[in-house]
Amino acid sequence: DEDLALLTGEGGDGEDGKVETALPVLAIVGRPNVGKSTLVNRILGRREAVVEDKPGVTRDRVSYPAEWSGTRFTLVDTGGWEIDVAGIDARVAEQAEVAIALADAVVFVVDATVGSTDTDEQVVRLLRRSGKPVVLCANKVDGPAAEADAAALWGLGLGEPHPVSALHGRGTGDLLDAILDALPEVSAHGVLRPQGPRRVALVGRPNVGKSSLLNKVAGTERVVVDDVAGTTRDPVDELIELKGVPWVFVDTAGIRRRVHQTQGADFYASLRTQAAIEKAEVAVVLLDASEPMTEQDTRVVQQVIDAGRALVIAYNKWDLMDEDRRPYLEREIEKELVQVTWAPRVNISAKTGWHAERLVPALERSLESWDTRISTGRLNAFLGELVAAHPHPVRGGKQPRILFATQASTRPPRFVVFTTGFLDPGYRRYIERRLRETFGFEGTPITISVRVRE
Ligand code: GDP
Ligand code: GDP
Repeated sequence: DEDLALLTGEGGDGEDGKVETALPVLAIVGRPNVGKSTLVNRILGRREAVVEDKPGVTRDRVSYPAEWSGTRFTLVDTGGWEIDVAGIDARVAEQAEVAIALADAVVFVVDATVGSTDTDEQVVRLLRRSGKPVVLCANKVDGPAAEADAAALWGLGLGEPHPVSALHGRGTGDLLDAILDALPEVSAHGVLRPQGPRRVALVGRPNVGKSSLLNKVAGTERVVVDDVAGTTRDPVDELIELKGVPWVFVDTAGIRRRVHQTQGADFYASLRTQAAIEKAEVAVVLLDASEPMTEQDTRVVQQVIDAGRALVIAYNKWDLMDEDRRPYLEREIEKELVQVTWAPRVNISAKTGWHAERLVPALERSLESWDTRISTGRLNAFLGELVAAHPHPVRGGKQPRILFATQASTRPPRFVVFTTGFLDPGYRRYIERRLRETFGFEGTPITISVRVRE
């Protein structure tokens, strides 16, 4: 639960009438060995954790909660992202691109003792194109003698180089002050912002039909060129009007470009997916109806749940479905999608456009659930009935009592139940099941956390 809150960077307390905000996201990018992980550890106030990660071991975690001078933000740590030595330039750029897409501001780390390299220049071009605020960190300035090396980095054209020794802590306070100046107060991803067009991500494994669907949708409907008021838009996103309503399709540049498949592309595909999901409010997970489901498919579904986004499952390539496969598909749905029985499913063909019009109503349903707030009164009336009908089992002579519950936030709905003791996992699941039976929540994950009052 805690991780979930951190990933979505929930700021507000979500009381009725208050605006919930997303914490700003800071990404740290740079070549290998410039000191990114050391800097991350310095900012997070920990020592070896990240640097000692074995090379080649990819961590699934991409963001961490950070704080400076009382300001909280989410830190995207690329230091542990695997980079192999072959084709290192392409990899650094690719890595930076994903990190930049995730972020509201970027710290670009350069090893001042080495100076800028061709790879650095490549990243600088990406940074410029992104239009995002950049703080230039001239690292490994361990003493005054190296200050001149830092000054030489003015030449990158990214403004003032901040001389830092991530290793010893020298200059990191000033760097963090500059970071706070660069960070917006609220994430531009606006995940938890109620205004502007809804943001949707098309995700799924390669060749499942994402770009076909995007083309189909953008082809028949109007692509809105001018900006809609209240939208912060990344150049990689597209504003597409569907039945008169604008939607932001996030990270479409990657989909359209058909990102080249390098070795270890799975890992980057997974990061891209993560980036897209985090920027979106609702994700359409495309599955290939004509082929057996793969582990990669279930992983994408899980990523959406873990990120706390609304979900629609689209079975694509329905035109290729033959009757022989039908029973297998049904069994797969029962087995592999059992944790998302609540998600609306649409069967479509991105190729022919068959049933493509069913997508928007499904998106709207999921988003409505995602936004739903159950009043504290209704929630406690519901819980009262639930407990009366089916009390918590007695364990070791004790029976935890449910005192009170409240919905701590929407987007997605999160509930906090106050009790006198820990609840059985089975009983929690029972509460969740009854919550869904009673209030619907079609298309949205929900979470229940328990606070034990002594
Ligand atoms: P990353 O690959 O960019 O994440 O780089 P690391 O954080 O793993 O650092 C690479 C190497 O540079 C390690 O041996 C660090 O101890 C060293 N290093 C990092 N920051 C500094 C610094 O400010 N000064 C010096 N002298 N060494 C540093
Ligand atoms: P992406 O990698 O997820 O963007 O997948 P693409 O959109 O590039 O599609 C991969 C391949 O599947 C292409 O050859 C498409 O023409 C094909 N394809 C996509 N959607 C459908 C569909 O609904 N039916 C059929 N028969 N083929 C499809």
